Amino acid sequence: MFFIIKMKRIYIAFAILILVGMIYMSKVETIPVTAIELKEPTYTIVIDAGHGEPDGGAVSKDGIREATLNLEVAQELAKEMDALGYNIIMTRHDENNIADENQQDSVRKMKVSDISNRVKIVNSSDADLCISIHMNKFASERYYGWQTFYNKNSEYNKILAEEIQAGITNNIDRKNDRVALNIKDIKLTDESKIPTTIVECGFLSNPEDLRLLQTEEYRAKLVSGIIEGVENYYSKIYGEE
Ligand SMILES: [Zn+2]
Repeated sequence: MFFIIKMKRIYIAFAILILVGMIYMSKVETIPVTAIELKEPTYTIVIDAGHGEPDGGAVSKDGIREATLNLEVAQELAKEMDALGYNIIMTRHDENNIADENQQDSVRKMKVSDISNRVKIVNSSDADLCISIHMNKFASERYYGWQTFYNKNSEYNKILAEEIQAGITNNIDRKNDRVALNIKDIKLTDESKIPTTIVECGFLSNPEDLRLLQTEEYRAKLVSGIIEGVENYYSKIYGEE
């Protein structure tokens, strides 16, 4: 009898555990992700240079700041795409973050306001897609190369990220077996209502990446690769030449 009661208690405890687990999982699963509806192309593109002072993003051993390199790549990309006839919207135009003036007194508040302003720009832009430029960093120096990221809530995100990954690989003569990766819990890619990808251009923790990313020549190849990816995305999605 005692044994049976004890067993029952264990079963009940187990059942409660499963129930709590299921409720928790269902909450995790119901984090709102924005579905994307495709419309007629406007040939407008949002280019987002990640971070912005005083948020420098990743910083290399010798003090090279991600925010600076992001802006350089973003501006060079904007210039080339503008020359090709695209309308470009930049989320930031200088070294500073874009948080509201009254949110600058703490780093946390600044970052929250900064990223929500970026999402606002993207979602009120009427653009066809958004490219967010970032630089990676890792504890080991070994890892190098570019990689794109997307939220799998839409197939368009995936196609855009895959095309840009392939475009860069096609334009830079260095080995890179990375594939576009699905990520979540990143506000920009979670909440963007247009196809969006994050392009991590390279690792500031890798000496060769760091050297190359500071040369205009290498960045030009990166930019050509991103553009090739964007153009292949357009022809895949809208069936154009
Ligand atoms: Zn970053």
